[in-house]
Amino acid sequence: MTTGTSNDEASERRRLDRRQADIATVLARTEAKFATVFRACPDLIAITCKATGRFLEVNDAFERIMGFTKDEAVGRTSSDLGTWESIAERERMLASLGASTRLENFEVRFRRKSGEIFTALMSLETVTLGGEDCLIIVARDISERKAEEVLLRRTAEELERSNMELERFAYVAAHDLLEPCRTICSFAQMLERKHGEVLGEDGRDYLEFLVGGAQRMRDLIQGVLDYSQTRHSALRQIDVSLGDLVTGAMADLADALEASGGCVEAEFLPEVQGDPPQLRQLMLNLIGNALKFQASGSTPHIRIRAQRDQGQWCVSVEDNGIGIERQYWDDIFGIFRRLHGPDRYPGAGIGLAVAKRVVEAHGGRIWVDSEPGHGSRFCFTLPAIGGEGEAA
Ligand code: ADP
Repeated sequence: MTTGTSNDEASERRRLDRRQADIATVLARTEAKFATVFRACPDLIAITCKATGRFLEVNDAFERIMGFTKDEAVGRTSSDLGTWESIAERERMLASLGASTRLENFEVRFRRKSGEIFTALMSLETVTLGGEDCLIIVARDISERKAEEVLLRRTAEELERSNMELERFAYVAAHDLLEPCRTICSFAQMLERKHGEVLGEDGRDYLEFLVGGAQRMRDLIQGVLDYSQTRHSALRQIDVSLGDLVTGAMADLADALEASGGCVEAEFLPEVQGDPPQLRQLMLNLIGNALKFQASGSTPHIRIRAQRDQGQWCVSVEDNGIGIERQYWDDIFGIFRRLHGPDRYPGAGIGLAVAKRVVEAHGGRIWVDSEPGHGSRFCFTLPAIGGEGEAA
């Protein structure tokens, strides 16, 4: 019996020893792995004392990025080395950490041994080592990214400025050209009316080309002015009924509606917040296009609807017209982009560019989907009155 018990005990002891050996092996492996990660990590890692900022351990990337050797850093504090841009920067970090034990992707300004200041993205975790609160800090040098961001921002600002200048130039040029263009138009028309008889058939044909050309030029110039005006006029933000805007646009298009026999069907349209003349222009351009871009002989049928989607309204103007091929869905919102010659469908190619500008100035977006030969649906969003709440 006794022998049996001591055999059991011995085998139990061996089993425990084996387990302990296994655990020690696993721990040694884990430690080796951690040491490798710690050493080889391309980001700076430092373990510091939370209270004093004294460095307990740093990795190779720390030496490379900060310029201090391990021997220079370990045992000294961050203020001894001056690794923060200023003491206030370290205090700002500690204030953000507060009572929490971790901080993620916090932007800080460090100073290298060379004195160069750089921006780093830092994450840290508080741990207790030997009864002392310590910080494991991991930081990535993002100074190159920051420099690129600054460059990008400057380039964007420069682009914006030169765009504004170009537009200002276009506005002034268009403004000055409009008057002589109107003069050419009206005198050519007067010439046709008063002396058309004596010009003969060829002369009258030439005059007709002249009038047509001058009118197209006038429309284009007027379009450039309208387009510039949407940017330069101050945007008002008042409650406006989309239904009233549609009624107003239909009144402006009464002749075209009557000539085509078209009908506009508008379902419940809400009140939105915006600039009434600009929104009226938007509806006018979309409904006008829906009436215009029809196959010959077809009767325009236009449906206008609005759907609430959280904090915004999505308004659609749908037609049964000629449609637009997919590759042009973005293109047509650019200024002077037209898919047809002026003989087939008159126009200056500015209506949708103005529409896009109006919608974007109101914080929305505009797009189209379409089935060529069957029709198009133009959709735009506008912020709803009262924002995120449910529709009244
Ligand atoms: P315009 O109407 O003066 O041509 P827009 O800027 O309003 O200029 O429209 C640009 C182009 O987009 C039009 O020339 C046309 O080719 C296309 N387009 C616009 N609206 C429609 C529509 N409802 N159906 C088919 N094509 C359209």
